[in-house]
Amino acid sequence: MTKYMLYLEPYTFLKRDEEKVLIVNTLSGKCFVVNAFVELNQLVDRIQTNEKSYSVQLDASEIENSQYSEFISIVRSTYSGDVVKLEGQSLPPVILPPRVNNRLDIAKLSNNKDRSIGDEAKDYIQEVTVVLTNKCSFDCTDCSKHYRQFAACTKAFGDLMELSLGQVKKFFKQFNPQRHPAVAIIGGDITQYSELTDALLYFASINAKKSLLLHANHIQRFVNSVGNNMPSSISLKVNIPPDCTEPFFLEFVPRLIAQYEVMLQFIVESEKDFLKANALANKLELENVSFKPFFNGHNFEFFTNQVFLSHDDIICERYSKNDIFLRQSINSYDFGKITIIPNGEIVANPNFGSIGDVSTSIGDLYANEVENGKSWFRTRTEQPCNNCVYQWLCPSPSNYELAIGKPNLCHIFE
Ligand code: SF4
Repeated sequence: MTKYMLYLEPYTFLKRDEEKVLIVNTLSGKCFVVNAFVELNQLVDRIQTNEKSYSVQLDASEIENSQYSEFISIVRSTYSGDVVKLEGQSLPPVILPPRVNNRLDIAKLSNNKDRSIGDEAKDYIQEVTVVLTNKCSFDCTDCSKHYRQFAACTKAFGDLMELSLGQVKKFFKQFNPQRHPAVAIIGGDITQYSELTDALLYFASINAKKSLLLHANHIQRFVNSVGNNMPSSISLKVNIPPDCTEPFFLEFVPRLIAQYEVMLQFIVESEKDFLKANALANKLELENVSFKPFFNGHNFEFFTNQVFLSHDDIICERYSKNDIFLRQSINSYDFGKITIIPNGEIVANPNFGSIGDVSTSIGDLYANEVENGKSWFRTRTEQPCNNCVYQWLCPSPSNYELAIGKPNLCHIFE
């Protein structure tokens, strides 16, 4: 009897659930979804469990099976694979499915006892956030919540404290000056940091991207106390809460923009906040503007309307093999980022516990996060994502999932 082989190309990613089969051609980046039936699911399982090749042998009657027709037609028409006749005793070609290596070789690195992981670990650190102080004289309503969702100043972290600049310098000395991670400077109210002038000079001397983040409430004090002494190599970001009014903007923002390179980040809690902020930005012809949704505990509907992903949002994107591998291996929001909090402890994400302190070596911090941490490798392995065909297409879980207390921010599983 004539035999056929249905094979998939090594750049084709395949995943199924009970209702759908997802085919991603990572060369074109396009996704295709086929309705699943029992027999089609069995066929997909046969392909995926074939250890020797990314393929399955079919006889002539199976090729004609109507449950397979849409799947085979899409595979062939999108060059994601093909069906070939197997002549005589010829062996099917060996094709390997796309499989991620072991966590970007990370496990290998941390298990290798013969060498220090310090040097390699330093290359993985991409950004260090330094919370110089948690002192501040304002009492913003959501001070203890903003910083858990996005970069923001905070009075959290216990008693009023500030980091010793000497300790910070010592910590940063571990990095190769030619491959220094980016540095983000935050408070509290940064102007209350007792070594601010020296700190700015020190950070300016680092050969890396540097930014300093203020709250709108701190602008006036910042302009008065730092004035023209802000090094031009440090860019400024300002978080603007929804209650900021136009007169406030007219008074302070033009002065700020005239002096510094500034990104204005509007915190938005509703569609109304978004429209207001957008109108203000247009009216004042502000250029460097971004919007940060904030979950305040009562605006779930705003998130479902504006932040949650739909089937079309996911399927319309283009995905490379690397995009999928990265989503399978690491949390792309957190990986390589650490935050030094004012008591000297270091966290990989402010929502999780400490992985060391300023006196810990980079290698040990790295090993602590790899072995016990909860941030860098937080991927979509929880229900319902682990049973969803889009598991490795959706972005990594963000801090919003933690704030909302829901592992999936999508309309696929409401
Ligand atoms: S968030 Fe989770 S459940 Fe929703 S589409 Fe993405 S992977 Fe699926």
